[in-house]
Amino acid sequence: MAKRGKVWLKPGREKKIRNAYPWVQKGEIRQVADVEDGGLVTLLSVDNDPLGIATYNSQARFPVRVLTREKEEIDAEFFRRRFTEAWSRREGLRAAGHTGIRALYSEADFVPGLILDIFDGHGVVQVRSLGMEKLREHWIAPMVDVFGLTSLLEKSDMAGRAEEGLDSRVEALHGNPPDSAQIVENGLHFIAPIREGLKTGHYCDQRLARARLRDKVKRGDRLLDCFSYTGGFALHAAAAGAQVLAVDILPLALETATQNARLNTLTMDTLEANAFEYLEALPEDSEPFDWIILDPPAISKTKETRDSLKWAVWKLVYHALPHLKPGGSLLVCTCSYQMGVTETLETCRLAAGDRGCVLLLDDITLQDVDHPAPISFPEALYLKGLWLRKV
Ligand code: SAH
Repeated sequence: MAKRGKVWLKPGREKKIRNAYPWVQKGEIRQVADVEDGGLVTLLSVDNDPLGIATYNSQARFPVRVLTREKEEIDAEFFRRRFTEAWSRREGLRAAGHTGIRALYSEADFVPGLILDIFDGHGVVQVRSLGMEKLREHWIAPMVDVFGLTSLLEKSDMAGRAEEGLDSRVEALHGNPPDSAQIVENGLHFIAPIREGLKTGHYCDQRLARARLRDKVKRGDRLLDCFSYTGGFALHAAAAGAQVLAVDILPLALETATQNARLNTLTMDTLEANAFEYLEALPEDSEPFDWIILDPPAISKTKETRDSLKWAVWKLVYHALPHLKPGGSLLVCTCSYQMGVTETLETCRLAAGDRGCVLLLDDITLQDVDHPAPISFPEALYLKGLWLRKV
């Protein structure tokens, strides 16, 4: 095995690592020795105190990502322990009968760079760092074993890989991964289009919010689900007796949404459209909705582009409000760490003010528990939903 390099931090920078923050920026590094991109390093304070073991990549935005603060070997046993702990944190979800689960969520499960979703026993893994790529011989076998996977597909086709110097890679790592899998979420059946769908195929993070929606919706309510993907929200509302319209720009999403409705003997109208244009062009006298769901994609991941995300959310809320009945509700979701609850609320407040509307904050939902949010790592908390009722 290659010799482990060393990275010394600048004075004072060790505190955040001791407080369990997992990332080091370029400017926080004082000195390096024997490092190699994608290799393991021992992280040290300026006084030579060991702080942990990390992966290193000089090309990445965060060159150092901490794997452990303990003295331990980074081998198959290490990954077996990490995976076992992560799986037991999800015991509640598994016991509740959900069969689509995010089993590993990178830093938030203490395996930086590794994401695993499991759909009815079929794993879909995404590798987001060169360090994890190089450790693959250690993690593949324990992953299949601990999570009891029937098949494992690597679907590392995310934009973020280029930054780490990695190509896109989609290949079977175990068994015969199917094109799609059928899962149960909150008692409803969903097809997760693993190969052709977005990301790993299904967004498990909104499970809790979807269940909340089903609880709140009343029979006969009219609901518009913008950015519906495979109809996660729309289907839960239909199950509560609502009349639903799912809007998305991606044909495969809507085809799957229609199949999902059929699978549950429910009905759903779909419309292939750009949701921004659709909302803006809705005639003023069209029949208003009791519910409008706005769950746009991240749009911005960095501080630099945060304003474009705010602007997008403002536009959506501004154009949605006239089509909401008095007493009707808007669910506004943002899935970027850069836009927290406060920023999202502020944006909604501006749009409501510009429309002369008053909105009541009824509820706030967050990503479900299979996307853990250690408070030592604020970036892990990315998804929030504000439930706003029009007075
Ligand atoms: N609400 C979904 C997840 C949304 S993911 C769920 O519960 O599963 C974001 C979705 O927005 C994707 O399906 C993507 O195809 C869609 N999308 C992206 N840009 C869009 C646009 N301009 N108009 C409509 N849909 C868009």
